[in-house]
Amino acid sequence: MVQKYKNKLSILSKDFGEIILVTYDLIVVGGGPAGATCARRAAQIGLEVLVLEKAHHPRRKACGGGITVRVRDALDFDLFSVIEREVYGVRIYSPGGLIIEQSCSEASGFTVRREDFDSLLLEKAKEVGAEVIEGATVTDVIEEPGSVLAVTEDTTYNGRILVGADGVNSVVGRKTGINNGWRDDEVGLCIEASVPLDSSEISRIVHEKSIVEIYFGPVLYGYAWAFPKKTELSLGIGVRISKMENFKDEWKRFVAGFEERHSVKCDMRDATAARLPLRGSIRNTCSKRVMLVGDAAGYVAPVTGEGIIYAIESGKIAAEVAGEEAPKAQKVNVFSYEQRCKAAFNQDLVIAQSLAKLLLKSNKNMELACQAAYTDQAMREYVMELVMGIRPYKESRDRIVKRLLRRHPLKALKLIT
Ligand SMILES: Cc1cc2nc3c(=O)[nH]c(=O)nc-3n(C[C@H](O)[C@H](O)[C@H](O)COP(=O)(O)OP(=O)(O)OC[C@H]3O[C@@H](n4cnc5c(N)ncnc54)[C@H](O)[C@@H]3O)c2cc1C
Repeated sequence: MVQKYKNKLSILSKDFGEIILVTYDLIVVGGGPAGATCARRAAQIGLEVLVLEKAHHPRRKACGGGITVRVRDALDFDLFSVIEREVYGVRIYSPGGLIIEQSCSEASGFTVRREDFDSLLLEKAKEVGAEVIEGATVTDVIEEPGSVLAVTEDTTYNGRILVGADGVNSVVGRKTGINNGWRDDEVGLCIEASVPLDSSEISRIVHEKSIVEIYFGPVLYGYAWAFPKKTELSLGIGVRISKMENFKDEWKRFVAGFEERHSVKCDMRDATAARLPLRGSIRNTCSKRVMLVGDAAGYVAPVTGEGIIYAIESGKIAAEVAGEEAPKAQKVNVFSYEQRCKAAFNQDLVIAQSLAKLLLKSNKNMELACQAAYTDQAMREYVMELVMGIRPYKESRDRIVKRLLRRHPLKALKLIT
C-alpha cells in the first residue's frame, strides 16, 4: 500500500514496516556531537539529511563535559550559552600523595553539561535544514547495491549514504560488519555522576578561576576526575576493561576520599556507568556507503579519554565526503573517508595511546611523572597541557620527553625500564 508521509511517498511492507521511498542523500544515525556536526555540515553543503536519534534531547550522557579551545574553534557558532565554567588549570593528585597544581592566566578549556551542549549542536543542525526524528532507534542497517536502508521499529528509511554516529555501542558498526565490537583492551568502563552542589561550594573546592582535578592511582590504566560546572560537579573514574580490578570498590573509595579531602557531602544518586573506546589507531571505519564517526569509530584519545573534538572533526569529514559522493548515485564510494581521518588525527590517537601505555601502566610510572612535575615548573606546564588537551598529543609528548631527558634523566630511565 503506497501512501504520503511528510511530503514523501511511502510504502507499507510486511517485512520492513513503513518504507520511505524518497532517498535521502545522507542518513545520520545518532544525534550526539558527531552526528549533529555531520548533519549540520552536510545540510550546509546542500544535502538532504535525516538524523535518527533514539533519545529525546536534552538527554543525559555520562561525560566529564570538559572541552578544549580546539572544540570551540572547530564549531561555526558561539558556544557561550552552554559554557558552564572557564577552566584555567589543573590540580593533579599522584598515587603517592603529591598535589601538583598549575594554572595559566587565560582560560585553557571549558566545561559544559552534555544535556545542553548536545541539544545546542542538534538545534544547529535543524537550523540549517537537517530533518531530525527523535525517539527513533535504528535496529538494522541494510546495504543494497544502489542505496542503504536504516530500519527502525516501525519505519525503514532509504539513503544514498549512511553515517553511524551512534556511539560506543554502535548498532551501525555491528549490523554492517564494519566493527563487530571492541576487545576488552580496546574499551574503557567509566562511572560518572553529576553531583549537585552550591556554586560557592564548587568555587571553594576548585577556586573562583576554576581548575579541574585529576586523580592518578585509584586505578591503573585510567584515572578519576572532578570537573566543575556552575552548580554541579562531574565526579568520575575510568579504566581500561582488560585491566579492571575491584572497580566498584575503587570508585566508592575515591568518592569517600573526595568527600573527606574537601569536607563536602556528595549526592551520588545520578551515578551512571558507560563505556568509551580506547583503541588508538584508526581502522575499520567504513564500507562502500557507510561511515562510522566519533565514538562509533573509536575516535577517543586513550590517555585522557577526550573524544568530543574527534567526534566533531570526523563528523565534518564524513559530511564533506558525503557531499562529494552523494551525487554519484549508483557509484557512491566513501572509502576516502578513513584516509582523511587518518591524515587529520591518527597521529594524535596513536601517540595518546602510547602515552597511556607508558604513563598509566603502573603507579611507579605515574608517580615518577608526577615527581618530575612537582619539582619543575616547565614540566608542570607541559603536563597541564597534556591533561587538558591544549596541544596536539605529539607536541605534548615531545616537550615532556625532551624535558625529562634534559632535566630528569634518571626518572626518564626508570620510566622506560
Ligand atoms: C564518563 C565519560 C566521560 C567523558 N568525558 C569526556 C570529556 O570530559 N571530554 C571529552 O572530550 N570527551 C569525554 N568523553 C568522551 C565523549 O563523551 C565521547 O567521545 C563523545 O560523546 C562522542 O560523541 P558521539 O557523538 O560519537 O557519541 P555519543 O555522544 O555517544 O552520541 C551517540 C548518540 O547516538 C544515539 N544512539 C545510540 N544508538 C542509537 C540507535 N541505535 N539509533 C539511533 N540513535 C542512537 C544516542 O542516543 C546518542 O545521542 C567521556 C566519555 C565518558 C564515557
